[in-house]
Amino acid sequence: MLTLDFHPTGRHFLQIPGPSPVPDRILRAMSLPTIDHRGPEFGALGLRVFKGLQQIFQTRHPVVIYPASGTGAWEAALSNTLSPGDHVLMYETGHFASLWNKMATRLGVKTEFLGLPGIDGWRRGVQAGMVEERLRADTQHAIKAVCVVHNETSTGVTSDIPAVRKAIDAAKHPALLMVDTISGLACADYRHDEWGVDVTISGSQKGLMLPPGISFNALSPRAIEVSRGAKLPKSFWAWDEMIETNKSGYFPYTPNTNLLYGLAEACDMLLAQEHGGLPAVFARHERWGAGVRSAVKAWGLQIQCADPSVYSPVLTGVVMPEGVDADRVRKVIYERFDCSLGTGLGKVKGRMFRIGHLGDCNDLTLVAALGGCEMGLKLSGVKLAASGVQAAMEYFAAHEAPTALRTAG
Ligand code: PLP
Repeated sequence: MLTLDFHPTGRHFLQIPGPSPVPDRILRAMSLPTIDHRGPEFGALGLRVFKGLQQIFQTRHPVVIYPASGTGAWEAALSNTLSPGDHVLMYETGHFASLWNKMATRLGVKTEFLGLPGIDGWRRGVQAGMVEERLRADTQHAIKAVCVVHNETSTGVTSDIPAVRKAIDAAKHPALLMVDTISGLACADYRHDEWGVDVTISGSQKGLMLPPGISFNALSPRAIEVSRGAKLPKSFWAWDEMIETNKSGYFPYTPNTNLLYGLAEACDMLLAQEHGGLPAVFARHERWGAGVRSAVKAWGLQIQCADPSVYSPVLTGVVMPEGVDADRVRKVIYERFDCSLGTGLGKVKGRMFRIGHLGDCNDLTLVAALGGCEMGLKLSGVKLAASGVQAAMEYFAAHEAPTALRTAG
């Protein structure tokens, strides 16, 4: 890596909200020799990862795995359920919701992009009341799907998905509910079946602690039913052959074998009962989020998410004072302290940077990353009210982790 020439010792701090650092245990699992994906051993691996994924998505129904980034899984969700000219309701929470909306338009779907005006919509979660009102007005049921992003990675806002389900039900509307939890899965609580989601989209490079390269669609029986009549062109993304072949642990085309080794390991790590299983995963992300926000508040800086009820446990957007370019500050932190932070995307470019607190991190790596931020902010001439590092240390010391913190064995 380029930075190794620059900082020859220690590890680079990959503090972006995904790809997140890959634990050594997963890297080791992925280094095993690639096997025949149609041979006798592969089926057992396939069945193992499907079982683990069902537990992580909290579903009893099929989870499809694509050798693609999250964008591919977005396209799979749309192309398996919709026909040309179908009308869908999408909600503008931020940059990723906007990209998904753009993709739907390019695929020949008519989208209606709801949201609060201006930057405000990028500081709050999905307003379920707006969804309900729009669906009630659609008495002919022209709208075929409601598409929302659970954890908006561009802003650090985690929307209330059960509230969106309730809104659809209250309007007595048959639209499918499709949810992108690419950066929420295995960080923030997420329940595909219980929350009545029809298609959940996710990816490998965030809470699952894998490198980028595989992505997922978790399905409901109704989504599978609807897919039989959907007319958007698809072949690589088609669920039918995937679901059929996956039943025996195999794939219709060559899967990403070594990433599946890593995925099997990640499932074991996340679900390990001795470490508290998924409840402990969610609790430690909540706690890291609270610790990082205590730092931002102590600095006297604003958090991009303006509604504390939807603060993201995955990342925090830090807004710069007027006149300070967030990307310039990021550059100082990267060059001086070997720490990568997330850039501002779309409408918030230059306004904020993002600190990822997900996956394979712990209190001390976060305190160190905040140290890099604090030094970089000061070097960039940003006036800080107090030490955020001190505030985070006090937070972590005062709030003992509910269960074992380490994920890696
Ligand atoms: N949706 C969300 C919420 C994301 O965070 C990302 C990527 O960061 C994507 C979609 C796009 O996924 P990918 O970049 O893996 O194609």
